[in-house]
Amino acid sequence: SLIDARPHSAPRTIDRFAPGNGIKAAEVNAADAATVDAAVIAARRAFDEGSWPRMTGFERAAILNRVADLIDVHADELAALDAEEGGKPLKLARGDIGGAAMLTRYAAALAIEMRGDTFSNSGPDFTGLVLREPIGVAGLIVPWNFPALILCQKLPFALGAGCTVVAKPSELTTGSAVRIAEFYAEAGLPTGAFNLVTGDSEAGSALAEHPGIDLISFTGSTATGRRVVEASKKSLTKVHLELGGKAASLVFADADLDDAAEGVLFGAYFNCGECCVSQSRLLVQESIADEFVARIADSAARLKVGQPLDDATDVGPMIHDGHLAKVLGYVAAGRKEGARVAAGGAQATDGDLAAGYYVQPTILNSVTPEMKVFSEEIFGPVLPVTTFTDEADAVAKANAVQYGLSNSMWSKNIDHVLDVAKALKSGTVYVNTAIDAPPNMPFGGYKASGYGREMGQAGFDEYTTLKSVNIRTGRRAGTFAITAPRAARQ
Ligand code: NDP
Repeated sequence: SLIDARPHSAPRTIDRFAPGNGIKAAEVNAADAATVDAAVIAARRAFDEGSWPRMTGFERAAILNRVADLIDVHADELAALDAEEGGKPLKLARGDIGGAAMLTRYAAALAIEMRGDTFSNSGPDFTGLVLREPIGVAGLIVPWNFPALILCQKLPFALGAGCTVVAKPSELTTGSAVRIAEFYAEAGLPTGAFNLVTGDSEAGSALAEHPGIDLISFTGSTATGRRVVEASKKSLTKVHLELGGKAASLVFADADLDDAAEGVLFGAYFNCGECCVSQSRLLVQESIADEFVARIADSAARLKVGQPLDDATDVGPMIHDGHLAKVLGYVAAGRKEGARVAAGGAQATDGDLAAGYYVQPTILNSVTPEMKVFSEEIFGPVLPVTTFTDEADAVAKANAVQYGLSNSMWSKNIDHVLDVAKALKSGTVYVNTAIDAPPNMPFGGYKASGYGREMGQAGFDEYTTLKSVNIRTGRRAGTFAITAPRAARQ
């Protein structure tokens, strides 16, 4: 942990074994409730008395831009940490780090543009100012699937708005967050404005229930998200949630099928399928289904499952052995309920893969909406396939799950594209693409995928609150007479 820019010892440590080969990759200091308390006190002091919230947007932006430069300079090191501890293929980890720097620069630009509003239409003697202020101390809880990237979807936005921060990465992937905290200190962030607590659910729950926190921004499972909401109730802390997903790729017969075949596989197997926006269902129009499934099954079998640090690897290991068992359990459940394996279907154990937690890129065909694999988040490289007849059937099936984070659709017909995009109940719809998340577009969920938005102007605004200052100038007799009618001003 780093509190007030100083390393903080911990009562216990947690060993992290690399999911690719089982070798010890890190030893993490596990913060307890007292450590979390010290971090919140430091952030509170930095907010209430420190210079950070009082700096100009330009000054805050300059520091964020310096951090972005440091992220770029150390990109290889950060990518290697995320790949080794999290098991994601190195080439994807490099993309994450590029994204982390881009997000930091975008948040810097928003810090410069942070503004409220004014009303000058309340009569000649009134001026209304709507001030936009930082919300206070932000607690950021970050999962293991995009350690640096998701941290940077939150941290520079919170800091850019003038908040101070306590962040907790997953105990499984702590290395890149520690380095990024060091970059902030090096870039000149005032002491206490960003505090990092490393550790497991003990630290996470201590942060979520701490009364000194003004906002919790949480990314992770829907089950833990519910616990965070429970913990927030006592202090009525504002909560922002990015939770699970069960996105569908909708492939219509009028799509460019070459493009769709590539995109569907990318959406399903990107980041080993461990992604809240993984396109983890294929809904394909009946008339093209057999041919399309045969084609993607052939491509899936040719993907390279391998060590995360090998540049040729397309699909890496699952995050840990328990998660491997969970993903294989879904494959078994799908088979039992009548799905047919069109590709993969088993653990990958060739050569050095036996020491890690690898799953073959899998396609389950003939899946129906009653099956568990259709509706539950698998979070692995497993793609269930279901057919649809027409647009209405496609939309009904896509929406028939509890989640609503994203969906993608493949079609060349623009009328059709807009109708379907409007009818899908998800915070993001990708059209003829998959899993793109430009920093300037808001990202978040419908339904059990959470609430609030990350990134974009809306994501920045989550870390702010509004204050209305209604100013009367001049003095007209009778303004405050209790019986005077006020309707004229309303
Ligand atoms: P969690 O939701 O438990 O973890 C997310 C973050 O919350 C981690 O930093 C975790 O810390 C922390 N945390 C754990 N318990 C608490 C708590 N009580 N209060 C506050 N914070 C807490 O996800 P899991 O790692 O258990 O993954 C389980 C499943 O969740 C996956 O299989 C996947 O389906 C889904 N998931 C979804 C993600 C998404 O991007 N939407 C990301 C990750 C998982 P720590 O890791 O140290 O325990």
